[in-house]
Amino acid sequence: MLILVVNCGSSSLKYTLFQGEKERAAGLMEKLGGPVSDYTRLVDGIGKDPLRLAVPNHEQAIHLMMDCLLTDGVIRDARDINAVGHRVAHGGPDFTDAALIGERVRNNRIARELAPLHQANYEGIEACVKMMPATPQVAVFDTAFHQTIPPKAYTYALPYRFLTEHKIRKYGFHGTSHKYVAERGARLLGRPIRKLNLITLHLGNGSSLAAVRRGQCVDTSMGLTPLAGVVMGSRCGDIDPAIVPYIMGRENLDVKQVEQLMNKESGILGLSGISNDLREVIKQAKASNTRAQLALEVLAYSIQKYIGAYHAILGGTDALIFTAGIGEKSPEMRKNICAGLAGIGVKLDPSKNRKAVACEMLIHDKKSRIKVAVIPTREEYMIAQETKRILKARQTGGGARIKKVDK
Ligand code: AMP
Repeated sequence: MLILVVNCGSSSLKYTLFQGEKERAAGLMEKLGGPVSDYTRLVDGIGKDPLRLAVPNHEQAIHLMMDCLLTDGVIRDARDINAVGHRVAHGGPDFTDAALIGERVRNNRIARELAPLHQANYEGIEACVKMMPATPQVAVFDTAFHQTIPPKAYTYALPYRFLTEHKIRKYGFHGTSHKYVAERGARLLGRPIRKLNLITLHLGNGSSLAAVRRGQCVDTSMGLTPLAGVVMGSRCGDIDPAIVPYIMGRENLDVKQVEQLMNKESGILGLSGISNDLREVIKQAKASNTRAQLALEVLAYSIQKYIGAYHAILGGTDALIFTAGIGEKSPEMRKNICAGLAGIGVKLDPSKNRKAVACEMLIHDKKSRIKVAVIPTREEYMIAQETKRILKARQTGGGARIKKVDK
């Protein structure tokens, strides 16, 4: 069975074609809409010559991807692809699970209004439906895994009508990743997920934590948008909301400018003045740059506070699970975060922590009350699995498990 996974970002297209567990082809197009777009791709794990050409929009990008799958000999016809799984950032309030793409997904007005920056997801869907009208397509929502969060955790203390009329509430993101690492983590620990309380830490350029009780998410750090929660590469995370009107007044900023400031100029980049890439900041911190050192401290502290809070609401934690760029590849940052958690019983094994770079591994000390794991995330693989599950449910007459969430 060939499953194509498509992930359209605002100016990028990432795809993987899975044949069972195997990645037959994968590609990344960047700078779509610009004068020159970059396209790199792999076929059976071997890199092809990169292409540099103007790709004006996502529809053209999907066409180019298909042309390359054909000319590289991966498929003979677009109809060889059995299903397409799309990453969709926002499912809005109605989707608690991945769903077969039909009118209900394509006309998901609330989600499209709530996530104007993720319109590209829908452009990718439209282009694929047009190109492969007979091929089943599935939307896998970043928000779906978080739909088990109870009202007390997802409701903001604004006038109630903002929840009912505008659907303003916590949705959470990176759900596919949190779900994958929670399930893999349980396997690595050798225990059923229904008997575990886990805190999953997706720490990359964007970062979020999730509190997972017996396999179900009960809270997460991102909110209505992916700006909330812990400090990120260039996003500020949680701040006093009164700061926003205050700085708008002081610096004469409009709404767009303040959004840009909080999303693109803050976080590790804003604090350090160096980069949004943690590797650079760690390097400078080691060279005694005090702003870089402060940025690392603020980052670790913001994560420690969420872990403490989730440990409390879970009623105890069995394991912390680190994933994504920083979580998988930065022993230094894992050490900094865990150093502040001795009070709840977290103790790393320094040698295991150092060794665990981009591989699945347990890294806690024998005496640690809370286990600590590193699990590389596999969002594309998970989207392919979810796509398969939804198709199977349809074939067996179960249909996609779509529940309307009561608002
Ligand atoms: P992601 O968004 O999951 O692709 O993660 C990307 C981020 O991971 C980069 O911007 C870096 O900040 C971070 N990262 C990747 N490798 C390392 C590393 N070896 N040490 C520290 N941070 C890293």
